[in-house]
Amino acid sequence: MAQEFPVDAVTLRRANRASWVLLFAALAYGVVCLGVALGLLPSGSGRFADATLGNGVEVAALVALGWRAWHCRRISPFWAVLALGVGAYCASEIAFDVAEAVLGRGVRGITGLEAGYVVGYGAMLVAIVRLVWVGAKRWRVGYVAEALGIVLLVAALAQEFLVRPLVGASGLPSAAVTTWVMLVVVDALLLVGSVLTALRTGGRWWLPAAAFAALVASDTTFAVVSIAGRYAPGSGVDGIAVVGIALLGVSALQVRTAVGPRTRSRISIVITPAVVLPACFALLVVDHVHPLTGSAIWLAAGAAAAAVVRMVLSQQELLELATLRREALTDDLTGIANRRALLADLERRCASDQPFGLALVDLDRFKEVNDGLGHAAGDELLRQVVRQLVQAAPAAVLVARLGGDEIALLIPDADPASAVADAVALHTAMVRSYDLLGHRVHVAASIGVAGYPHDAQRPSDLLRCADIAMYEAKTLGGRVCAFGSGEPGGTARGRGSLTLMTQLRSALGLADPGEVPGACGHLRVLFQPQLDVADGAVVGAEALVRWDHPDLGLLSPVEFLDEAERHGLMGHLTHRVLDDALAAAASWRVEFPGSRLRLAVNLSATNLLDVDLPTRVAELLGRHAVEPAGLGLEITETVLMSRSPRTRSVLDGLRELGVALSIDDFGTGYSSLAYLKELPVAEVKLDRGFVADIARDPRSAAIVASTIWLGHELGVRIVGEGVEDLATLEVLREMGCDTTQGFLHAEPLSAAAFRDWLTVRLAGVGSAP
Ligand code: C2E
Ligand code: CA
Ligand code: CA
Repeated sequence: MAQEFPVDAVTLRRANRASWVLLFAALAYGVVCLGVALGLLPSGSGRFADATLGNGVEVAALVALGWRAWHCRRISPFWAVLALGVGAYCASEIAFDVAEAVLGRGVRGITGLEAGYVVGYGAMLVAIVRLVWVGAKRWRVGYVAEALGIVLLVAALAQEFLVRPLVGASGLPSAAVTTWVMLVVVDALLLVGSVLTALRTGGRWWLPAAAFAALVASDTTFAVVSIAGRYAPGSGVDGIAVVGIALLGVSALQVRTAVGPRTRSRISIVITPAVVLPACFALLVVDHVHPLTGSAIWLAAGAAAAAVVRMVLSQQELLELATLRREALTDDLTGIANRRALLADLERRCASDQPFGLALVDLDRFKEVNDGLGHAAGDELLRQVVRQLVQAAPAAVLVARLGGDEIALLIPDADPASAVADAVALHTAMVRSYDLLGHRVHVAASIGVAGYPHDAQRPSDLLRCADIAMYEAKTLGGRVCAFGSGEPGGTARGRGSLTLMTQLRSALGLADPGEVPGACGHLRVLFQPQLDVADGAVVGAEALVRWDHPDLGLLSPVEFLDEAERHGLMGHLTHRVLDDALAAAASWRVEFPGSRLRLAVNLSATNLLDVDLPTRVAELLGRHAVEPAGLGLEITETVLMSRSPRTRSVLDGLRELGVALSIDDFGTGYSSLAYLKELPVAEVKLDRGFVADIARDPRSAAIVASTIWLGHELGVRIVGEGVEDLATLEVLREMGCDTTQGFLHAEPLSAAAFRDWLTVRLAGVGSAP
């Protein structure tokens, strides 16, 4: 219900100004009152100021409250009730002034003019109690007990240390004295309520708290001065009261939001009993030395009782807080640990050097069950599977649900081999038929296992490795797969992939501080030109990465990219290639001003799952001052086919940036242009295997020709890759292909070599290929 003050900025500024005026007027009146009290000003001037400035300020505060009540009439009745209270209070104030003016002396005895005060304090009390009540939302009895404890204690102290000596000294009837003191107690209640609200909300809610503090001060002084028989209108007491009422008016102009429920801190839950109980105990001790009045004892007893109630409730409240914390770590549906709990545990374990295994379980037919039998059946399946897993798993294994049908198993103190063995045992235990609301459903599962520290050293990397292994398991038809054991991943694997990946990490500048980088070589980006088929102009270049390895020589991307992908290094690698390539592109802009070369950079599957990619690309473009149209990103067809919503949103983000997307290796995957309709693609690159023999094989030629035709119909550019001879180029030209790339034009070249090559070409030396 936190609701801003519903007025526009101009009105807000005016309200601000008005509140200053109100405050200054109140302070001016306060100064006059002080002057009278100190005998610096004649008492007549006090009376005059009281009738004019004092009443004026109170009426102005009333107007402010009324104005606020009107604006907030639909949000909360708080301001209206407070305005009513201040209105009734002002009515009595003015009534007394008028009566005194008519009588020519102070009004004595109960006359009925006090009715406004009674209504006024009552209404203010209602407003504040309601505010606390609504703000509390829960544990309201606790608040009441808390307030009661404080008020009764204050009353006991007041009774003993104010009323008693005053009655003794003045000889006034104790009823009158008690009434005055009760007024102070009501003020104290208002103060406690407003302080509770201010503690919860802070900010300008301290203004009403200050207002009630002023009322406590003025009513206390009033009681004391009246008992002494020295009260005169327009003295210091009235000054403080007027400042208090003015502060209520200022609050109406200043407080920005209504108060909504908010949980309390642990300390604030126990603070009241911690103060009230010792104070009551102290009173008991005092009673022993110097007997207290009966009413003070009863009030103190009441305060102690309220504090005990509060304490009992605090106990429950704390227990509930603890439960809330626990619930934050458990999964609602199954009651096992949730993602947050798993991550916390992973974090802790990754800080030690004990090996452990992380397994990710994916139910193979969960979606079918959910769609076919309904969500209730899906939920039931999850509950049963989890029960099965928890029963079958050794006690030390943490079973956690990550969301959906994804379940993780953290297998402590296990090397990769024993983690896999455990996972296989659990797989056997869980793959069986389940009875779901009258249906028997056989459920298979795929489990991917990654080992710490063998496969990865950080929780996020480890999860990624297990995820990749899980997908491999899924492709292999529902079984257990250890990370890196799926498909043979290039030649690098044979060379000890872990060492290689550690070296790649270093080459990417990601080595951990303690890790000795050693010789890791460096990554280089080569550029292969792309030419316009029609006029032979150089239109762009594709960036292709190489790793200059100290022992293994120059590694081609196929030798390390798969492994880098598995180890979660592709994000960093792509960033590096983009950075280097854009730096080169920026320098071409300067060296070859006329040529508008477009740079092409390859993206991998995991790059497209990274929702921050568009932001990062935008940042790099900005850093190198290359306009988005100067960059194209290549994505393979298989990635596009995944249709994952996350990939889709990354693609849309890139497209919105203004970079062109191109489909790489077209012809090796599904070879369907159907999805061009829905995806933001500007270019298709025909795979070299596809292009290679069009000059010899009429069937290949027919396919390429129709692809080019269809692509053009759909408004995309076609690039022919791997063009090695003139005959192929000729055929592509006849077919209307837009751009070509291949050894016929140039091999991938270093940035310097590319610059020389381009200079020669632009000089017109080679208008041939
Ligand atoms: P790709 O994107 O299809 O790149 C074209 C590959 O064909 C390059 O191999 C290039 O050297 C080669 N090639 C170019 N012209 C000819 C030709 O006329 N005949 C023949 N036989 N081959 C030609 P490279 O550089 O070894 O790259 C292999 C693959 O590695 C690339 O295939 C691309 O998928 C991937 N790759 C390269 N650099 C990166 C990178 O920075 N990031 C990502 N994610 N992948 C990259
Ligand atoms: Ca490519
Ligand atoms: Ca390609």
